[in-house]
Amino acid sequence: MKVPFIDFSGQYEAIQDEIEVNLKAVFRKGNFILGQEEKQFEEAFACYCGARYAVGVNSGTDALFLALASLDIGGGDEVILPTHTFIATALCVSYTGATPVFVDIDETTYNMSVASLQGAITKRTKAIIPVHLYGQAADMDEIKAMARPQGIQVVEDAAQAHGAVYKGQKVGSLSDLACFSFYPTKSLGAFGDGGIVVTNNESCYKKILMLRDYGREGRYEHKIKGYNSRLDTVQAVVLAAKLKFLDEWNRKRNTVAAWYGNHLKDVPGVVLPRTLPDRTHIFQTFAVRIKNRDAVLEELQKKGVGVLIHYPIPVHLQEAYADAGYQRGDLPAAERVADEILSLPMFPHMSEEQVEYVCQSLKDVMR
Ligand SMILES: *Cc1c(COP(=O)(O)O)cnc(C)c1O
Repeated sequence: MKVPFIDFSGQYEAIQDEIEVNLKAVFRKGNFILGQEEKQFEEAFACYCGARYAVGVNSGTDALFLALASLDIGGGDEVILPTHTFIATALCVSYTGATPVFVDIDETTYNMSVASLQGAITKRTKAIIPVHLYGQAADMDEIKAMARPQGIQVVEDAAQAHGAVYKGQKVGSLSDLACFSFYPTKSLGAFGDGGIVVTNNESCYKKILMLRDYGREGRYEHKIKGYNSRLDTVQAVVLAAKLKFLDEWNRKRNTVAAWYGNHLKDVPGVVLPRTLPDRTHIFQTFAVRIKNRDAVLEELQKKGVGVLIHYPIPVHLQEAYADAGYQRGDLPAAERVADEILSLPMFPHMSEEQVEYVCQSLKDVMR
């Protein structure tokens, strides 16, 4: 048996009929850039998140960059983010000219450590980017309580948490601006690149509309120096069809996670993910911790199990951020997790048989 890390075929089957009709309509009309279908998807996604506005953009990275740009963040400013994340969370800060400040993580949820955040706030802190890593929301109330009195903005990196709920509210409506990625492997994935910014702030909304479209207001008037970063109509058609299934697919992910939990709960040396009681987990990634991770990964691959590492090198230790001056030992919890974390196959249409094969393989390897 072989179990891939991800398999899109079940998702495609569910949306095939709808997108074939709707894509043909776009191909005939030729409204490829900012077509009506794109606007309709923005409205549907904002509504899904419980927020007022959404602006479709090129990628999750651009969503983060344009969200920060809409807040006028730039040179001389500091933006705080967890080091255990995908590097795009930091790159978007660098694009603005601001300085990324890396903080440590909580070892039970792998999300930003509130204690580490507290120690990193300075007079120059302009924004905090909590990342809802693997599909579970960060400690938003504690983070906002630190940010708000000091006029610090909170921008959610929700690239891995479409549909996750925190204290009864969906991710995307918990802060000033929330940013999502539609990269194909995300729980809501396009057939290419895409992203979206969700906000309740009208002035940020209007500014991001201009920023993604050459700074344009009207056809020929350019009020600011903008960019070219729009969500294609074709991608919007795919995403609109998938959005209708998102909650169902997130429930299926939870079923898969429960199967993993049952089969692995008594295996010594395997640390399972933990969901805090006041929030849901959508299991974008099913990450376990294992002491001799690298050897286990190699053996699992030999047995035909698709496994990946999210992420083996914390961002503060990446060569790209050597100039930031961090050293091994600076953010110890994240560094420990980076050495032990392992992502097992996870997709909504995964069968119990496939989960059992992964778990049996893992048990054989650990023995
Ligand atoms: C995927 C991802 C991004 C970047 O999104 P892209 O669409 O690939 O640009 C940013 N942050 C996190 C946490 C991600 O997982």
